Amino acid sequence: MSDSLGDRVVLVTGASSGIGRATALALARGGAKVAAGARRRDRLRSLADEAPGELVVLELDVADPESVNRAIAATVERFGRLDALVNNAGIMQNGMILGADTREWVSMVETNLLGSMYAVHAALPHLIEARGAIVQVSSTSGRIASLGSGAYSATKFGISAFTEALRQEVTGRGVRVTLIEPGFVSTELTSHITDPAMRATAAEIAQSMRTLAAEDIAQAVVYALSQPDHVAVNEILIRPTDQVR
Ligand code: NDP
Repeated sequence: MSDSLGDRVVLVTGASSGIGRATALALARGGAKVAAGARRRDRLRSLADEAPGELVVLELDVADPESVNRAIAATVERFGRLDALVNNAGIMQNGMILGADTREWVSMVETNLLGSMYAVHAALPHLIEARGAIVQVSSTSGRIASLGSGAYSATKFGISAFTEALRQEVTGRGVRVTLIEPGFVSTELTSHITDPAMRATAAEIAQSMRTLAAEDIAQAVVYALSQPDHVAVNEILIRPTDQVR
């Protein structure tokens, strides 16, 4: 894999909004061939309309291993190979542990943790062949847990653990692994919170600081994927200047 994005084939999961959408666009603008996966077809269509160059959209549910396998196969079929996976799809449904609706825990674990593990599992043979790269989107919540984020944080701590084991397994085969840990980014992420108090807290946090934009994280992904072969950017922690914890 070379140090320019040109002609590289990159699959971005969760590309229908927020960080994934901005990343897919930044990669396409940099000359990469992009496969953009998510569940909402209308949003993917608007991404395809906006993106320059070669971008294909794929219906993808990361919580379903068969859907993940199909998306990887479709990417390789369309572009002939896979050079990088940006493992970004995720949901956040914050709330207290006491009295929690455990179905929300299940969907966070299935989407954020298992979903990203399925994507690594399906993509890895192709990435080894290409001596490619994997960008794992975790969070500051994968480093510091806080009140009301127990289940979400558990998924993000899990991603960090899986990522380090993955890095040790594949770096000797030329596959570079990057963990990205964003702080507060203005996206639709908080719109799935069902607990009214938690929603209010999220809105207050957003009002209290100059939050990051999805494009700020997209630039970090582009940076990681643009390094020469001998440089592995293993971790990027990126907070808004105004975010204390
Ligand atoms: P958004 O809600 O804007 O984007 C989430 C993306 O994930 C959407 O494209 C959504 O697409 C996709 N997604 C959700 N569930 C699935 C699924 N089962 N299969 C495929 N795609 C899915 O939020 P963000 O852009 O903020 O979130 C992106 C990532 O960044 C997440 O992993 C999040 O945890 C992480 N993050 C975000 C931070 C923030 O402050 N915003 C901070 C730190 C990390 P669709 O619904 O169409 O399937």
